[in-house]
Formats: sequence, structure tokens, C-alpha cells
Amino acid sequence: MVAEIIIDSKVKTLNRIFDYEIPSDLEINIGSRVFVPFGNKKTPEEGIVIGIKEKSEYKVKKIVSVEEEKIDKTYIELAKWMSKRYICNLADSLRLMLPPGTTKKDVSKRVKTKTINLITLSKDEEEILDDIESKKIKSEKQKDVLEFIINNGTSSIDDIELFTDASKAVVSTLIKNGYLEYQEKTVERNPFIHKVDKKTSDLKLTDEQKETLESIKESGKYLIYGITGSGKTEIYMQLIERMLKENKSSIMLVPEISLTPQTVDRFLERFGEEKIAVLHSKLSIGERYDQWNKIKENKAKIIIGARSAIFAPAKDLGLIIIDEEHDESYQSEMSPRYDAKEVAEFLANKLNISLVLGSATPDLKSYYNSLNGNIKLLKLTKRANNSTLPKVYIVDLRQELANGNKSMLSKKLQEEITKNLETNKQTILFLNRRGFSTFVMCRDCGYTVKCKRCNITMTYHKNENKLKCHYCGFEQKVVTECPECHSKNIKYFGAGTQKLEDEVHNLFKDATTIRMDVDTVSKKNSHEEILNKFRNENIDILIGTQMVVKGHHFPNVTLVGVISADMNLNLGDYNANEKTFQTLTQVAGRAGRGEYEGRVIIQTYNPDNYAIEYSKIQDYDKFYNAEIELRKQLKYPPFCDIILIDMSAKNMNELELVAKKLHTYLKNRVINEKFGLLLYSPVPSPIDRIKDRYRWRMIIKCKYDERVNNLLTDSLEEFLKMKTKTARVNIEINPNNML
Ligand code: ADP
Ligand code: ZN
Ligand code: ZN
Repeated sequence: MVAEIIIDSKVKTLNRIFDYEIPSDLEINIGSRVFVPFGNKKTPEEGIVIGIKEKSEYKVKKIVSVEEEKIDKTYIELAKWMSKRYICNLADSLRLMLPPGTTKKDVSKRVKTKTINLITLSKDEEEILDDIESKKIKSEKQKDVLEFIINNGTSSIDDIELFTDASKAVVSTLIKNGYLEYQEKTVERNPFIHKVDKKTSDLKLTDEQKETLESIKESGKYLIYGITGSGKTEIYMQLIERMLKENKSSIMLVPEISLTPQTVDRFLERFGEEKIAVLHSKLSIGERYDQWNKIKENKAKIIIGARSAIFAPAKDLGLIIIDEEHDESYQSEMSPRYDAKEVAEFLANKLNISLVLGSATPDLKSYYNSLNGNIKLLKLTKRANNSTLPKVYIVDLRQELANGNKSMLSKKLQEEITKNLETNKQTILFLNRRGFSTFVMCRDCGYTVKCKRCNITMTYHKNENKLKCHYCGFEQKVVTECPECHSKNIKYFGAGTQKLEDEVHNLFKDATTIRMDVDTVSKKNSHEEILNKFRNENIDILIGTQMVVKGHHFPNVTLVGVISADMNLNLGDYNANEKTFQTLTQVAGRAGRGEYEGRVIIQTYNPDNYAIEYSKIQDYDKFYNAEIELRKQLKYPPFCDIILIDMSAKNMNELELVAKKLHTYLKNRVINEKFGLLLYSPVPSPIDRIKDRYRWRMIIKCKYDERVNNLLTDSLEEFLKMKTKTARVNIEINPNNML
């Protein structure tokens, strides 16, 4: 028999499959990880078997060895599907299906299970006791150690030293004399920071919740559209419970940023630590490896994780839940540029199980599909614990400026903060960081400091008194004199979280504040530490970026201020309105989740924008109707797909040549084969240089079907044939971020 193998090599072709003979003494199936002789390499290369056939048309070499570890057949099919749909290397897709930390070329550097050496008896207890009795063992210390182990069982060397007077040398002697021996024990690297003692059980469901739960059957696609606090999480938990009763596993995806201990604790309290595995990027690679094993060994039947947890090797998977399904983080920005929602759909279809999406502000595409009957729509219209939705006020910043208020905080917002400080309630101030940071400009000639490598304005960081590039991390000293015109008239413009915090301190001298943004959240758990501190120490004002928006629950927060709602509107993304509406609704959902009524102040220069207007009345349906009409007219998703061909190179001429050649190739085929699609000419990207690489792009608008998929695959093959020096081409389907 012959195996078809994908080798993770740097060969510049999309997916070359190599044939190898299967030796009769090796058991090899689809999904096996094997080592094979490759090219003129001295040591065998690793590969993955993706197919098996009778014979090869070539003269083939033999597989050298096979590992125990293998990928399930379903996931091999998934990888093939992904590599086709997202036009990427099969090897890259397959890597996602392997245990974390096990893909290094150097096998000795791969993550393994962690073991410790324990000390155990190597003779019968009776025999040892006899030897002590008969004074064959005379040393008191040796006697102590042996008795300790007889009474307490296998122990660590540290415990032996701690609880007896003996040193390590005594233990060594006993090992040498054949009384004791080492025993290797596997220890799990445990990612759960603290023990959860509380135990909760199913809540009595509201009528709406009950109806939703009963509508969800073993297979099918569902969208739970439920306002913030309507009890979606409770439904998820009861669905998972149902799976446990049938001995099946569940995967629940959560946006990376809201995968906090607070979220996980709710599940730990309901189901206990044993049955749960968590997977996200803040875990160490060893912790992730152990969680992966816990899933594979079928110990953990509840998998909670960020995007890539969709590839976890769940046994008897019965349910996939995607919470906050509208969240951008479900789409990967690295190759393979997959959409976890689409991957989940593939798995749900393949395994004939149910897929449950949930959100208070569904992705326009999901909602469109639910209205078309492709997904079953389930609505939750009331808050589960009867708290009321907050009151939303819009403040027109143009008016504010006309009234002479140059502060970042409008008069209305200042008044409301004062009220909260007087009544000892908490406030959250939200500032979107994108396009909203402090930059340095010469007032005389308009020069701004830009990153040498990225052509992006550098951001001023007050604490370190430095300028930083948010794309590549490049740092430099602040400038006091303009390098262009030598003027000393340098000004700091813009408004970052640091500046906002300063303003708050100036206006409210006694207020306590805490800040959460990329600068304060870099250590492993500081995100959670900041939130805990805010809650437990009843800090007056939390100032933060995007991170404060997601799913947190603070009963004492009654006021949320949005410093500027306009952040996304000017970025030129086709989904700018949608993102704005979602963010504002999610932020508003943070206010008044306890027993007190909440207020939300939205400051904006565009009070007439419908995304902002409808977020004021928190009416998703009205927003949807307006937005879908616009998308239909302008031929944007879900009516059409947008394909972004992203090209980059270190050399400008090289890049231009690639862009032109690729465009000509596509244009000829589109015309000759009568494709009904819109192909735009290549142009420099909005950010035309990142990390010393020049960037161009080309956009296609079309229905992304098999034919277009083949065309794009061919064009990528065409590019690889160009044998360029530094150029790269990436293709993205409906990217979230068009920058
Ligand atoms: P969502 O996930 O939709 O934002 P949650 O599930 O977090 O909503 O529920 C919001 C709050 O309501 C939580 O404090 C939760 O414990 C409570 N809750 C949910 N369902 C019920 C119920 N059936 N009865 C009482 N309280 C509930
Ligand atoms: Zn100048
Ligand atoms: Zn840079």
C-alpha cells in the first residue's frame, strides 16, 4: 500500500503530495504522523498521511517510522476543505489540528507531558520491616525514611526531607541498597488559577429561555438573538448538561478577550474542574498541551476556548456553541485566514450535530441567514433577572465645541460622573483606540513623526516619554524640534487613554481611577487583575479601550461614557456601521446590570448616523433593516463577497511588477471565461508599508463560488511560478479589517 503524504517543507508550491510505500510492519492510517526520507536531507522529515491508495505511478521510498499521535479523519477532511476555501497550504491547516507545541522540526524541543520523580518502595513491606527488626538496617535516619513511606505511600523527595530528619543522601543510599526506587508520575499543568468551591445548579428558566432550550434539537443551526443579560449563558449551560447526560462533548467558543476566569468560573461552578478544558493564548504552551491531552483522553467533555479551540480533538462531539458570534476575533488574521464560524459549520454538518450561535447584536450575515430560514432564529427579548435596559443619551460634540468646551468630556457626561461620585456608584469610560491615539505634529509645517519601517504615525506614550509604532513596536525618543523646518513649535494631538485619565484627574480631584488598555494589560493575568481590582475595591472610574466592552458583569456600574462613537466610521470598511452599532450596544450593556438603573452617554460628531441613532434606542431590528438595504444596493456582503488580494514585498519595483502581472493574468481569464465579477486594479494599500515591506492590494467583488475559488487558486500558483525574491501574496475572503 502507498500513503499520500504532506510534508511541512518550505517548498514554494501550494500543496505538493508525496507518495511513500507503507512497510508491512507499520500500522498507518489516514491522519498518521510519520517520518520519511526526503530529498537529500540526512534525517527523515515529518509528514502527515492524508490518503492511502493501492499503488503509486512513481518509484517510491519507504516510510521510516510512525508516531502514536494521529489526527482524526474528520479533521483531515476539515484541513483539506480549509486549504481549498482559504487558498492556503494544507500543511498550515494541518498544523492547527496537532497538539500545541508539537510541531517543532527538532523533536527534542517539542512539548511533552510533565513528569516528576517520586520515591517508592522496591521491596515488600514485610521484608523491610523484618530487616529493621533484625537490625539489618541500623541507621535511625534510614529507618525514619522507610517508615514514612510505609505509612504515607509513594512520596516526593521534598516531602521526605520535610517530614523526616533525613537528607537526600540517605534516600540515595536506600536506593543503592535496593529498598527504594524512583517512580515517574505525570503531573498536569493546571491553568485554573484558583479553586472554585461554590457549586451551582440549573436555574429555573424563564418562559423565553425554556422555549429556546426546547427548540434546540440534536442537529441543526440556531441563532439565539438575545439582548445583553437575557440569560443566554444559562441556556448554554443547560445544553451542555444535556450533552453530558448522553456522554457527549461540547465546544464553546468565546472571544479571546472575554475568556476571563470570571467567565470560566461560571462553568467550573456548574460542572467542576475535571470535566472542563480551557484553551486560549494566555496559557503557557505546556498548559495548552495538557488541556489538549485532557480532551483527547476524553476526560474533559466541555471545551471552552478562543477561536482555535474549534480544532480541539473532542471525543463524541455533540454540540458547538459560539458566544458573541458577531465578534471579529473568530476570523484569523494569519494564514490560514479561516473563519471559526465557517469551520464550526463544516464540523456540525459533517458530524450531524447542532451549532448554536448567540449574540445581542448578531452578525448581519447570520441574521440575514436566519430570516432566510438557513438558521433557526430564537429570540430572547427580556433580561433574565428583570434588570432594566439602560437609558441612552447622545451628545453632539460639534455643539459642545461651539459652546467652548474643549475637554474630552462633555458637560452632560461631567454632570453624570459627578452624580455617580456623590452616590458612590461606579463609572466606565470607553475610548476606542483605533485611530484615536496621541501623535506629534509640527504646528509650523505640519510634519508628523512616522515609523521608519511602517509609514504609520508614531504614538506618544506619556509614562515612558517615548514614541512607539503600534504596528511593529519600533520606539524612539520624543522630538522637541521639527526635523523638517527646525521649529520648536511641536504639539501633541489626539486623545489616548492616558490623556483621558489625566483629564479625569483634573476635573475630579478625589476620584479613584484605573486604566485598562494594551499598555497596562501585558502580563499574563493583569487583564483579570484590573477588573477584579475595579470591582473589589470599588474604584470610581474604569478607563479603557475595547477590552472593557466584552461580557463583564459589574453590578455597581451605573454609568458608561463613550468618549467618541465615531471611531470606526471613518476607516473605510464596508462594515463600519455594523461595528459601530455592535460596539455601542455592547458598551451600553455594561451599565445597570445590577439592581440600579443604568445611563449611557454617547459622544459623537455624527449624531445623525443611523448606527448611532439606533443604538440609542437599542433597536437591532431597525438597524438591521437600514443596513441590509444599503448593503443590497452597494452589493456588499451578505449579497456579495469581497476578496482582498494582499501583496507585499521589500522592494517597490518587485511589488509593482507582481501586482501588474497578477492583475493581467486575472483580467485575461475573467474576460475570456466570462466570469461575472468585478475586478479592481491594484493600488497601494491604505497603510502602504509595514515592517519595511511595501503593500499593494487588489479587490474582487463576486459571489465566492467554486469557480472563483479555482480561479484564485490558479492565480496563486501563477504567482508562485514568478519565482520572486521577497514578494508575498495573501488572499482574504470577506476580511474584517480592510486596512
Ligand atoms: P447573557 O449571557 O444573555 O448576557 P447571562 O446568562 O449572563 O446573560 O444572565 C444574566 C444574569 O441573569 C446572570 O446574573 C444570570 O445568573 C441571571 N439569570 C440567567 N437566567 C436566569 C433565570 N432563569 N433566573 C434567574 N436569573 C437568571
Ligand atoms: Zn516643521
Ligand atoms: Zn513600525
